Amino acid sequence: MADNNAGEETIFSKIIRQEIPTPLLFQDDLVTAFRDITPQASSHILIIPNKLIPTVNDIKQEDELTMGRMFTVAKQLAQAEGIAEDGYRLIMNCNQHGGQEVYHIHMHLVGGQPLGRMLNPK
Ligand code: AMP
Repeated sequence: MADNNAGEETIFSKIIRQEIPTPLLFQDDLVTAFRDITPQASSHILIIPNKLIPTVNDIKQEDELTMGRMFTVAKQLAQAEGIAEDGYRLIMNCNQHGGQEVYHIHMHLVGGQPLGRMLNPK
C-alpha cells in the first residue's frame, strides 16, 4: 500500500465507528483496541487513537495524552490476556521502511509465546 500522509481515513476509522462490526476489546474517548485480523502471535492486539494520525511522524504535542493512554491500555490488555508476566512486545511501524501498511497509527501488542529477536536478520 502506498504512503497515505494526506490523512485519508482508513479501515480503522470505520472500525472505531463500528461501521465495520469488529469486536472491540476496549474503547474510550481517546483510544480503541481490537484483535489483529492476521495475528502474528497467539495474542495480537491493535491499540489505536480514535483521532486519525497517519504516522508516528504526524504526532503532535497535543496528542501526548492519547499516546500515554495507548500505553496504559496496552498494559491493561496484556494483563487481561494473561501475558503480562511472561512478557510481550509493543510495536509501532512507521512508513515504508518500517513496514507500515495502514496509515492510521497503531500499536501492536504481541505475545503469548517467545518472540525471539527483535529484528529478523537479513
Ligand atoms: P502495519 O503493518 O503496522 O501497518 O499493521 C497493520 C495491521 O493491521 C496488520 O497487522 C493487519 O493484519 C491489520 N489489519 C488490517 N486490517 C484489519 C482489520 N480489518 N481488522 C483488524 N486488523 C487489521
